Amino acid sequence: MEILWAPWRLNYVKEATEGRKGKGCFICEALKSPPEKDPENLLLYRGEKALVILNRFPYNTGHLMVCPVRHTGDFLSLLPEELQEIDLLLKKSISVLKRAYNPDGFNVGLNLGKVSGGSINTHIHYHVVPRWLGDTNFMPIVGGVKVIPQSLDETYRLLKELWE
Ligand SMILES: [Zn+2]
Repeated sequence: MEILWAPWRLNYVKEATEGRKGKGCFICEALKSPPEKDPENLLLYRGEKALVILNRFPYNTGHLMVCPVRHTGDFLSLLPEELQEIDLLLKKSISVLKRAYNPDGFNVGLNLGKVSGGSINTHIHYHVVPRWLGDTNFMPIVGGVKVIPQSLDETYRLLKELWE
C-alpha cells in the first residue's frame, strides 16, 4: 500500500525511538509550558479545572482529549467542579468538531486502567474521536492509496480558530 503523506508519522517514529523516559506526564508538561508553546504542544484550551489537547497519534482527524488540570488517574477522585468543566468542554469540543469537519458521529469515552487499553493511566483523559461512515478501515481506500488525515498543525489551527 502506498502512503502519500503522513507528517505525523515522523513524530511517532521519533517518539517511539527516543521514548518518553526522563519526561513527565505530557499533559502536565504542556500545561507548565508557556502559552506560546500551546500550538507545539497541541494544547487547544486551558480551563480552570480542565483542558483540551489534541491527540498526537490520532485515530482520526480531529481526535482530541479532555482532561482535568489536576494530575490524577483516579476517576473516583474527580471533584464535582472538575466533572462539570470536563462536561462543558466535551460539549464544546463536539460542537467545534461538528463545525470543522461535519462528521457522521463521535466516539466519546474513557479508558480506565491498563486492561481497558489506556496508554496513559496516570492522567485521566476523555477521548473525543470524530467518525465518518466507512472510516472503520482507517479512511476510504481508493486505488490502493491510503488517505492520511489532515496534518496535526492544520487540525490545530482550524480547531483553535473555531474554538475562539
Ligand atoms: Zn499529568
